[in-house]
Amino acid sequence: MGAHRTLDCDLLVVGSGAGGLSAAVTAAHLGLRVIVAEKDAQYGGTTAWSGGWMWVPRNPLAVEAGIREDIDQPLSYLRQELGAHFDEQRARSFLEQGPRMVDFFRRRTALQFIDGNAIPDFHGQTPDAAAGGRSICAAPFDGRRLGERLHDLKPPLYETTLWGMGIASGAELRHFLHALRQPASFWYVTKKVLRHWRDLLVHRRGTQLVNGNALVAGLARSLLDKGGQILVNSPATRLRRDDGRVTGAVLHTPQGAVHVHARRGVLLACGGFPHDVQRKRELLPHAPTGQEHWSAGNRGNTGDGLRLGESAGGQVASDLAQAAALAPVSLVPRTDGSTAHFPHLIERAKPGLIAVTARGVRFGNEANSYHDFMQALLAATPASHAPEAWLVCDHAFVRHYGLGAVKPAPMPLMPWLGNGYLKRGETLFELARACGIDAERLQATVQRYNAMCQSGRDEDFGKGETPYNRIQGDALRASARGLPNPCMGPIERSPFYAVKVVMGSLGTFAGLCTNARAQVVDAQGQPIAGLYAGGNDMNSVMGGHYPAGGITLGPAMTFGFTAAHHMAGIEPANSPLNPTL
Ligand SMILES: Cc1cc2nc3c(=O)[nH]c(=O)nc-3n(C[C@H](O)[C@H](O)[C@H](O)COP(=O)(O)OP(=O)(O)OC[C@H]3O[C@@H](n4cnc5c(N)ncnc54)[C@H](O)[C@@H]3O)c2cc1C
Repeated sequence: MGAHRTLDCDLLVVGSGAGGLSAAVTAAHLGLRVIVAEKDAQYGGTTAWSGGWMWVPRNPLAVEAGIREDIDQPLSYLRQELGAHFDEQRARSFLEQGPRMVDFFRRRTALQFIDGNAIPDFHGQTPDAAAGGRSICAAPFDGRRLGERLHDLKPPLYETTLWGMGIASGAELRHFLHALRQPASFWYVTKKVLRHWRDLLVHRRGTQLVNGNALVAGLARSLLDKGGQILVNSPATRLRRDDGRVTGAVLHTPQGAVHVHARRGVLLACGGFPHDVQRKRELLPHAPTGQEHWSAGNRGNTGDGLRLGESAGGQVASDLAQAAALAPVSLVPRTDGSTAHFPHLIERAKPGLIAVTARGVRFGNEANSYHDFMQALLAATPASHAPEAWLVCDHAFVRHYGLGAVKPAPMPLMPWLGNGYLKRGETLFELARACGIDAERLQATVQRYNAMCQSGRDEDFGKGETPYNRIQGDALRASARGLPNPCMGPIERSPFYAVKVVMGSLGTFAGLCTNARAQVVDAQGQPIAGLYAGGNDMNSVMGGHYPAGGITLGPAMTFGFTAAHHMAGIEPANSPLNPTL
């Protein structure tokens, strides 16, 4: 073996998304020396592309707004949603430590939050679902505070931005959608865009960070403030072990191999397996060759953490309700010949859109969560067919809301029609022909749907009946048109448009089995000394179910906080980081 460099620390974190950085920041505040190793040239992973929403019931922002609930309520919601996959110990640990995690970050670090007190759980019909008060999001962050480290922060996924500028969900998104109609919104958008163009000139990237980009920036700033290191271009390729204990890892850096010795432990947080063909083949029945799943997750998430964990005796769960956080994804051709995977998270619930299969029929409630929407598509797809669907709308809709990567007016439609991403027809018949949809059936489906819009009752799939559906809709625009259901509007103004969506995900759920302290366990359920898992490398505490938005980042942040305490030998209940809780 040739000479290699060595590095010493207390905690080595492998992967720089929320799962890794949360543990890193907490550990640094508990006095541990921390190194974060990132494979990519930029840190942040899928987290930097995300909405930045975290499901953390009983969080301090909700409590301050007067929303108080006992731990038994969210616990009961999870028990009913997760069924046979409910693991009370881990669920309790998540719900107990979540508020402490939020309290710590907002009081002691650069990461701040905004509340999501009006955001309901996905399944309002399940007992103990909340109508709000269980979600928080990273507050906007001025990227200039990162100094030089702004330049290796992963920017948001370009197709979800406006010229590279992230748009926060909620009030800010509404300003952008109303910019051509309301002077206050026009002014808001103009100021933001001008500042962004100045940023591009001065900093070569945007600095008004929102959503997941703000989450990663806040975490990174907090870690750097405490002397933690983030090494990019440094994939971990093997774990170091000594007498059954994990004692570090070997990193493959541009300067050659670096052996990292980690006294307290290694936390694997490589973002699961969204781009690991072999694991997808094993765990995703809809991807028989491993290729038929187009995740919107970070491309570097190729299952390294799961393999590293297995090499030390860890077990990857294979019994989840669903191994991935499913989402409809469209394939966006880029001018450089590559393809972006665009997740459709926003427009499906707005009035004036339906989703149909190639048979020209609807298959589910378009306003349900991305995960439920795709479960419905899977259920409706015969075994011999690929699960694919078309989102269909009319001219008024596409100019008001956009469609996938296609932006609303005044952004032009021509480039999208030219590259084949967006299909158009002067009539529904013509549109169906352009897409390969059964034309007669599509016409009949739209006719029936348009008739139901007048009464506002979706007799087929109950669209608009849950609080989650309604908040995703557009009550203002629907009522201005005399429509009673905020998710339903007729598709009637020619020309008509469609974009095809395929099976994808926001990330994966199946991961390394851990105990309630985020320690990776072996086949006998015994913790492997020195080895922890975080983020999507940890088997999801939701057991492959998707009860609410933010159920990956909330647990990722919380279990990172818990793991760091365990490594430091401190019970979170006695943590010096939040003595008042
Ligand atoms: C558009 C979009 C919106 C989303 N919005 C939300 C939301 O609002 N709320 C929510 O809860 N979830 C959301 N998600 C899902 C969420 O972003 C992910 O589940 C989450 O970010 C995963 O965090 P992580 O830390 O596990 O992985 P990541 O953030 O992906 O980080 C993993 C990192 O590990 C690195 N890595 C991989 N292999 C190695 C190796 N061998 N050595 C070193 N580093 C390695 C990767 O390069 C990557 O940087 C969204 C996803 C998308 C795509």
